[in-house]
Amino acid sequence: MHSAIVGVIAGLAITQVSILITTVYLHRSLSHKAVIFNRRVALLFRIVLWITTGIRPRQWVAVHRKHHAFTDVPGDPHSPVLLGFYRVQFGNVYYYRKEALNGDTVAKYARDLLPDRWDELLFDRSFVGLAIGISILALVGGWKIALVASIVHLVAYLGLSGAINAIGHSFGKRPYENLATNNTWLALMTCGEGLHNNHHAAPTAAKLSFLKGQIDPAWPIISLLVKLHLATVRLSAPKFKKQPAA
Ligand SMILES: [Zn+2]
Ligand SMILES: [Zn+2]
Repeated sequence: MHSAIVGVIAGLAITQVSILITTVYLHRSLSHKAVIFNRRVALLFRIVLWITTGIRPRQWVAVHRKHHAFTDVPGDPHSPVLLGFYRVQFGNVYYYRKEALNGDTVAKYARDLLPDRWDELLFDRSFVGLAIGISILALVGGWKIALVASIVHLVAYLGLSGAINAIGHSFGKRPYENLATNNTWLALMTCGEGLHNNHHAAPTAAKLSFLKGQIDPAWPIISLLVKLHLATVRLSAPKFKKQPAA
């Protein structure tokens, strides 16, 4: 097969793995404590996240918790209501970094995630992680595939992360009373994150699909880890912040 096609497929596969770890580990586990993973599973997630995104978990968690504390009101780091749809869809990484590099935000919203020895040695060095990830790709598939896969992954991961924050607060269904929206197509592309209206209605729910016909592709994976005694789910049913709309 042509190396460009292999690169595109590899890039999209890496994006899906990163999105899966973002939603189950950074979002549902570290940010909301909806599910707790076994230490070894959590370490694996941390390593894969480091070499595929370079994200520092405590920064991501702080920015996200601030988004929940100020959803679509002044103080929200990436609200399309405040900033406009296109700025958040295409500039999400800029707004993310601006807030992530704010030491006060991290100190206030991620005080349960203080840097440990592994962070100091490895995981806080984002570019080392990304260099390792790209080197593995180049060793396995050659530099052409590594280059194409890295570009496709970068564009797809940033595009989908932007879509969760921009489309997920602008267009779609709102079965519950909040400004976030549900989009099935986005949920299928983001391991369930497209069910963002559900998530804002019950942020501590480990499963993001609540109603008939909704699909959370990450849920079977969490369920499997629970069956294997590698994960524990905090609440068996979603705990709603407000009563669902009639
Ligand atoms: Zn949101
Ligand atoms: Zn959340």
